Amino acid sequence: MKKSFYDLSHSDLEMVLTQNNLNRSAAAILFNWHYKKKENTQCCEKIAKCSLAFIENNLDFSLPEIYTVSESKDRTVKFLFNLKDNHKIETVLIPFHNKYSICLSSQVGCAMNCSFCFTGEQGLKRNLNTSEIVGQFLQAWRWLMENRPGEERILNIVFMGQGEPLHNFDAVKKACEIFLSKYGASIGVQKITISTSGYIPGLKRWIKEILGVNLALSLHSPFEEKRNELIPINRKYPLHEVLTYIDKIPLSKKQFITYEYLLIKDFNDSAEDAKKLGTILAGKSAYINLIPFNSYPGSHYKRSNLDKIEKFKEILDNFKIPTLIRSAKGDDVLAACGQLNSTH
Ligand code: SAH
Ligand code: SF4
Repeated sequence: MKKSFYDLSHSDLEMVLTQNNLNRSAAAILFNWHYKKKENTQCCEKIAKCSLAFIENNLDFSLPEIYTVSESKDRTVKFLFNLKDNHKIETVLIPFHNKYSICLSSQVGCAMNCSFCFTGEQGLKRNLNTSEIVGQFLQAWRWLMENRPGEERILNIVFMGQGEPLHNFDAVKKACEIFLSKYGASIGVQKITISTSGYIPGLKRWIKEILGVNLALSLHSPFEEKRNELIPINRKYPLHEVLTYIDKIPLSKKQFITYEYLLIKDFNDSAEDAKKLGTILAGKSAYINLIPFNSYPGSHYKRSNLDKIEKFKEILDNFKIPTLIRSAKGDDVLAACGQLNSTH
């Protein structure tokens, strides 16, 4: 069976070529063709005939199929992809001034079963391969080129779609290597953010392996008991331990860790919650994103009122922690945070 080209980093591809006694320089040419120029035709730059024949016979260039596209009033775009085994995943393009952030899925469903998340309800079906992660990006880019020409600028990549990215570490890491490669898309490290619910085995590897890419922690409550209720893996990997691992991540002067805080009415939105959150994050290189809860069919929590959210932010301001209230985008097509579920 052919191996997917999109599963290979630049150095993997060089190795495959050398092992087959071919000139490894074709790797940079192919990366440039498929990731920089984003062509989906056969590469017609200068590659030796024998290398071209090898590539054609051994590498697969097919991408996940776009199954449906939903466009929101606010121009958010949600893609449902059909994978080769007919599993479905979702990807979201979030607009800002005719540029986009892309929210990628890392797994089909998710094993973490958080009580506030539609993806969690789906359970984990399987991990995505690197090619299925990279493929979401390339297909969304091509869709923009065809449907919103001139707007095919995807400036940020966030792993905030379906799945727990640190639970699929190898594939996510390789996808990042491909996005970052100077031979290909050449996306800056600061433009990629991986969001985690606090999966410690992944964080341990992070400290050693992925330096540079941004990390976001879904914190959601500074109290262990409440966090247990929201994020069941907190029982196994409690917040205080998660924070000690995060503190070990070396950060450049300009870098910070993003802490996401979901605001659920009458559950974690009191002044006491805000003060405790401020206390545990004060003095860290931290940035807080307050995310008002997004509802989905069957959800049992409610979104906090706006005045409550603003009061919560004021308390954090007193701790001198930069805090942003994130507005939901695309919720009319169930494309906002936590609303992804490819079985509905
Ligand atoms: N599994 C990772 C990344 C995907 S979830 C994680 O949990 O961090 C991306 C973000 O959406 C997380 O911060 C998650 O807590 C948040 N989220 C999940 N359900 C939500 C909901 N119903 N409303 C708002 N945000 C939600
Ligand atoms: Fe998984 Fe993140 Fe949803 Fe929790 S919030 S179930 S970790 S996708």
